[in-house]
Amino acid sequence: MNVIKKEDTGLVIGIPKALFYFQHNLLWESFFKNLGCRVILSEDTNIEIMNNGIKLCGNENCLPIKIFHGHVHYLADKADIIFIPRYMSLNKNEYTCPQFCGIPDIAPLNIGKDIRVIEVRLHLDKAVNITVDSLKDIAFHLNIDIKEVATAFIKALDTHNASIKKDEKAIHGSSSSEEGYSHNIVVLGHPYMIYDRYLSMNLIKKLNDRKIRVLTSKNLDYNTKRENAFPFQDKVFWEIGLDNLGSCFAYTKNKSISGMIYLTPFACGLDSLIIEFIERRIKKESTMPFLKLTVDEHSGEAGFDTRLEAFLDMIS
Ligand code: SF4
Repeated sequence: MNVIKKEDTGLVIGIPKALFYFQHNLLWESFFKNLGCRVILSEDTNIEIMNNGIKLCGNENCLPIKIFHGHVHYLADKADIIFIPRYMSLNKNEYTCPQFCGIPDIAPLNIGKDIRVIEVRLHLDKAVNITVDSLKDIAFHLNIDIKEVATAFIKALDTHNASIKKDEKAIHGSSSSEEGYSHNIVVLGHPYMIYDRYLSMNLIKKLNDRKIRVLTSKNLDYNTKRENAFPFQDKVFWEIGLDNLGSCFAYTKNKSISGMIYLTPFACGLDSLIIEFIERRIKKESTMPFLKLTVDEHSGEAGFDTRLEAFLDMIS
């Protein structure tokens, strides 16, 4: 990566609206804005972004990885530098999947254009120093004092943490009937599936429009999710797998929940195991209606809606 002069800031940093974005958008947008950079985001996922991503990837890649490539492709001619963080592990003994953590290497190779990528490495199972070192790299490449970079990062982290607390509080608010909702439904899956309106076929809005309150793993705190994930099996080591297992098993104990939907992308190796655990557990210990919706690049909205309608008929 070439050294970029401090007087260049006003530098345009492109952030792809995919994968990590749906968990940590505030963190990274705030971080670069705190550094005085201009941040641009790719558009919301759309058919063009998806098709471009598909062309750039091999068949073995899962749908969210293909979509991510479409977002990087979108930013390639618009940003000076594209930000692609390297998420190895976000908690002790918990890892991200290999496709996800390899993305800062894979995407530039597949894009084939001369794009400049900047990364922050997160490997919290191993050492916080790995992140500190990558902040030093950013300070060097952007020619900004490391103290300024560290301050910008800590400030951004505060902004991010405050938003997490807000999401967790949502479940402790008023009951569904007080808010005019007829039912509570849990939607599980990767954040980059359930919060991407295109990939999720607007699932959350469709449920809200029917006066259904949607709860996700964001509405539970970390400890609740981990305490509920482990008793089922030996520990799985994927962070997102633990989130979904823990959320599922915690929510099945909650009598105010009417049903659960798991939204999964085609070709996710991790989900193939996690959903199997969930389905077996629900069958054995609960009567909660459960719907698995798989989305791939050929999925049509009509078929998706038909399955959703049938499920909602069952719980109403
Ligand atoms: S966890 Fe699944 S969907 Fe996510 S990047 Fe890995 S294979 Fe793809």
